[in-house]
Amino acid sequence: MIKTDITKSKFEQAKAHLAGGVASSLRASMKPAPLYAESAKGARLRDVDGNEYIDYLLAYGPLILGHAHDGLTESIVKAMRQGYTYGLQHDGEIELADLLTEILPCADKVALSGSGTEAVMLALRLSRAHTGKRKVVRFHGHYHGWSDSIFTSFPSAGLAQNDAGSDGASIVPGTAGQSENSLEDIILLPWNDPKVLEETLRAHAADIAAVISEPVMCNSGCIQPKEGYLELMRQLTTELGIVLILDEVITGFRLSLGGAHGRFGIKPDLVTIGKAMGGGIAISAVAGNAELMKLIDDSTVSHLGTLNGNCVSTAAALATLRELAKDNGSVYEKMEQLFITLASGIRELMKKHNLPGVVNQIGPVFHMMFIDAEEVTDFETFNKKDGAKYAKFAEIMLDEGILIRPNGLWYISTVHGQDEIDQTLQAIDRSLARLN
Ligand code: PMP
Repeated sequence: MIKTDITKSKFEQAKAHLAGGVASSLRASMKPAPLYAESAKGARLRDVDGNEYIDYLLAYGPLILGHAHDGLTESIVKAMRQGYTYGLQHDGEIELADLLTEILPCADKVALSGSGTEAVMLALRLSRAHTGKRKVVRFHGHYHGWSDSIFTSFPSAGLAQNDAGSDGASIVPGTAGQSENSLEDIILLPWNDPKVLEETLRAHAADIAAVISEPVMCNSGCIQPKEGYLELMRQLTTELGIVLILDEVITGFRLSLGGAHGRFGIKPDLVTIGKAMGGGIAISAVAGNAELMKLIDDSTVSHLGTLNGNCVSTAAALATLRELAKDNGSVYEKMEQLFITLASGIRELMKKHNLPGVVNQIGPVFHMMFIDAEEVTDFETFNKKDGAKYAKFAEIMLDEGILIRPNGLWYISTVHGQDEIDQTLQAIDRSLARLN
């Protein structure tokens, strides 16, 4: 059994003065206790009790180069020695903007910010200012950060105060304390349903400023868009004068160097990016076409933030993106192959242990769930998964030396290798036996 004495006592200690005992609500759900990390390198992490894990949590996505990557660390330290932030302009932000517009097919210009939540706020603001319209179409099961104007009840993440929104019909605030009025401009639709999309957009085009969508529904089951669905979204929004925002906070620099829109060949008006962009250092951005971004050029739209584009964050993003771009982005093929091996190995092991389940994998990300279904291609089916069983599995996996999210989404980094995958499959075999 893993030792958790120190972790548990630290959590008790934290609760005295740290609200909730954790710094981000989702983290509190980890069992047997929210782990306290001591150090990490590459694909492996050590906690304060001395337990060691192969890490597929990867800080909820940012650590695409793994932990404490030497080249990234060097770049960050070098930047820090010259001053962390000036509140003035510096070369790093020019270089980063140039690189992002080179890498991202949809980007003529970028605006830097600190978190995915802020990037989404800015993208919505640009859309409303550009169109002069108010409404925003978003989809059930997608997550776009926790700002008041977009955060709806999100049962699958375990954050909801109220699950009534899960039928796709009603819009429920994501948390107590959020004004219901803040969501009055939201139109919430089921995702991957071309008919509903077309009918709604045509009926309300005069009021709709933007459609915002994860290009792959990573936050609920890693569900891929049906063939033609994103293309339809693009075609309708163009035709009807609606801004298309693809929220690539997870998929950006993960599904390919050019993100999901690069991989799928879709050109949204705006993308929001974050997580993997900084390799683990806080940075995000909105990238998009010149016409929309012009609203920042001419000060029609305010874009603010004390630490936006600070030297540490731009150095981290530049080092991360340059590392990912090496050898024509060959690391993507490597990560994908390893995750294909892992995902198919898990499917076989689930069969072996007679535990019905689904693993939805695309590139270096997948969602594993226990569910009695052949496939999971919509949010409604996804919600039928056995979340409690999966949380138990995640707890057993910790004991077997594997760190995963309690809710099913797995990430891989460029430094995971075949050894890690082999060890992980052996641990899963033992864990599924223990779960039964
Ligand atoms: N959009 C998506 C698709 C996300 O997955 C997340 C975070 N998981 C966000 C936005 C918000 O990003 P952040 O946590 O950096 O504010």
